[in-house]
Amino acid sequence: MQTKEFKAESKRLLDMMINSIYTHKEIFLRELISNASDAIDKLYFKSLTDTSVGMSKGDFAIDLKLDKENRTITISDNGIGMNEQELEDNLGTIANSGSLAFKKDNDLGEDVDIIGQFGVGFYSAFMVAKLVTVRTKAYGSDKAFKWESEGVDGYTIEECEKDGCGTEIVITLKDDTEDENYSRYLEQWEIQSLVKKYSDYIRFPIRMDVEHTHYHDADDPEVHVENEVLNSMVPIWKKNKNELTEEDYNNFYIEKFNDYEAPLAYIHSKNEGVATYDSLLYIPARTPFDYYSKDYEKGLQLYSSGVLIMEKCADLLPDHFSFVKGLVDSEDLSLNISREMLQHDRQLKIIAKNLEKSIKNELLKMLKNNREKYEKFFSAFGLQLKFGIYQSYGAAKDTLEDLLMFTSSFEGKKVTLEEYISRMKDDQKYIYYACGPSVAKIEQLPQTELVRDKGYEILYCTDDVDEFVLKVMINYKEKQFKSVSDKDLELETDEEKAELTKQAEDSKEMLEFICSALDGKVKEVRLSKRLKTHPVCLSSDGQVSIEMEKVLNSMPQNAENHVNAEKALEINASHPVFETLKKLYVSDKDKLKKYSGLLYSQALLIEGLSIDDPAGFSDMICELMAEIG
Ligand code: ADP
Repeated sequence: MQTKEFKAESKRLLDMMINSIYTHKEIFLRELISNASDAIDKLYFKSLTDTSVGMSKGDFAIDLKLDKENRTITISDNGIGMNEQELEDNLGTIANSGSLAFKKDNDLGEDVDIIGQFGVGFYSAFMVAKLVTVRTKAYGSDKAFKWESEGVDGYTIEECEKDGCGTEIVITLKDDTEDENYSRYLEQWEIQSLVKKYSDYIRFPIRMDVEHTHYHDADDPEVHVENEVLNSMVPIWKKNKNELTEEDYNNFYIEKFNDYEAPLAYIHSKNEGVATYDSLLYIPARTPFDYYSKDYEKGLQLYSSGVLIMEKCADLLPDHFSFVKGLVDSEDLSLNISREMLQHDRQLKIIAKNLEKSIKNELLKMLKNNREKYEKFFSAFGLQLKFGIYQSYGAAKDTLEDLLMFTSSFEGKKVTLEEYISRMKDDQKYIYYACGPSVAKIEQLPQTELVRDKGYEILYCTDDVDEFVLKVMINYKEKQFKSVSDKDLELETDEEKAELTKQAEDSKEMLEFICSALDGKVKEVRLSKRLKTHPVCLSSDGQVSIEMEKVLNSMPQNAENHVNAEKALEINASHPVFETLKKLYVSDKDKLKKYSGLLYSQALLIEGLSIDDPAGFSDMICELMAEIG
């Protein structure tokens, strides 16, 4: 008997398999089981149209056998089988070289990924086997053939004996090494759990002899063997919604996605049309511990006709909904599709678009019908929605704006933007917001005084990203956002405006003096339109607000390059201190200079910023106290 060489491409793939350092070698079982299932599918299909086959659905099965002594795993099916030529063509060459084409464009590091993510069919057996023996008999043929290979050196084919049509694959496991324990594949529990994990939803029974030990008598346990079906065969997402209870959905979620808390919502849908697929999505109730870290991987499980082909298909979820867990099962996708092909797959894009829409609708429904639940959702994942708007430079605004929530001055509750504008006063032009590290701190900000006095609601931006989000959004339903620290709040009446302009005119020189005394720390010193009881505050003129300056400067990448907001010092002309300043401008400019510094430091402190010279500041206050005392 002559040993035949593998075709060049197969040889390369085989080489990759044998030398794979990939830790998920276990997927070999999934690959062989799905091949067996495909082969059964073919004969089953034939049996539906050709009565001479004489088999019905219940006759088909995949059988697994473990033999510890000989270190073999046998996977047999009673499917369509292969004749000599097919055996030669199918196992001597790679049927689908898509994944290999993908591999060519990538360095070796990527090997790891293709094997794990997509599998590479039959050859994956060589990740765990030192010898693979295939016995097969094609349907309708009376001859059976044996194919055998130890790997790259080639393979042999010879005639053999075999009952009935179908294929039997015997894998002789490699010897255990320090890094890899191949013997584990000989343990029944390991095989049971691999079938559950990867092949639970194969539509034909996967059977195996399972040993059960009974300890009626502790010294003499009774072992009996039962042939059991390891897979459940009907995936929950293939069932009708009315057959399932909320508990069914929740149990499936907890088991499948390793959560201990039931999800807030599930979305089960069946779709036919441009894309045919079933999907089952979940909105978790709590933030995974690594969610806001770079270790978190988004994605949905992707099945092709009930066979898991990808554990985390990232392309199915936009970043802003990365918290969603679930799966998609489509018959439009081939089992051995590579990641690169997936990225360009039109079907997948259509599915992803539909999923995004239904997630959004589900969340809106929750917001409308179950406020408490929605607020729980928002405290777990609201930040991600905000990042979504910011990181997309506003592209995701339309999708996400109605889902946002902010704490507001209105009863201190969380509100949506929709609710805010529904309460806006007739004369109110803007959506006002104020930023700070906490609600309590924001409420103390002098800048909020006037807006609040007007009876206008204020959104409290306590997350670092909040103001960036509002800047990117610009407006909501044509109402612009405005910071309470903005230079011009446009709140004063015409008379107030005229009065202020006059006062500013009168004290112009003094304000300029204070500004130059502050030596470039502020761009302008002006009379405040917003202060009512407090003496001073800071406001910002440019695109970068004081709050944004704080956030940006706390990021490590800005450690060297400090970002500076263009600040203005605002003075309250109706505060008694203003009279003192005016007097000093005439009588004691040195003192006015000192006071300028004091006022500025106070404004910084109110804003939650640090002052350059705290000791000097304190000395000056004490000096003043001593003078007065
Ligand atoms: P793929 O399954 O993607 O086509 P594989 O390398 O897994 O690639 O298998 C190559 C071919 O070998 C299959 O397309 C099928 O024709 C044949 N084959 C593999 N396993 C079996 C089996 N158990 N029964 C019949 N044919 C099989």
